[in-house]
Amino acid sequence: MAYDDQNIFAKILRNELPAIKIYEDDQVLAFMDIMPQADGHTLVIPKTPAVTLLDLPPEAAAYTIQVVQKIAKAMEKAFNLEGIVLMQLSGAAAGQTVPHVHFHLIPTNVHQLGRHAVELGDQEKIKGLAEKIKAAL
Ligand code: 5GP
Repeated sequence: MAYDDQNIFAKILRNELPAIKIYEDDQVLAFMDIMPQADGHTLVIPKTPAVTLLDLPPEAAAYTIQVVQKIAKAMEKAFNLEGIVLMQLSGAAAGQTVPHVHFHLIPTNVHQLGRHAVELGDQEKIKGLAEKIKAAL
């Protein structure tokens, strides 16, 4: 699928839009979801321009999932979690709303997941949660 470099996450990657960041290296960025489905909801994105997981080169996918695991471990430690939902929506038909591939890490139970991307979270509270994850990295 053609990549639109004006999508929100492309702008966050270029620092044209703000984000509460947790982790960044030359290939991947992790930041807090602005409309969290649970406290601590985090997004991990490769810097490689790709719309869905299916468009992402396997090497970039492999590296991104390593960072997903690293962030998940920090979240487990920061919030004393016993379980975490990893969600990846590929394609608008699957519910994807931002056309840059991303992995959701959501500290919840799958049966408690509500509709996503509906309500803006309290950004000060989200900043505090981000600090806890960063401290556990
Ligand atoms: P998708 O529906 O594409 O799987 O998920 C997109 C996610 O991005 C949603 O959970 C939504 O809350 C989040 N989101 C949308 N716009 C922004 C934004 O500007 N900043 C951040 N940090 N998250 C966003």
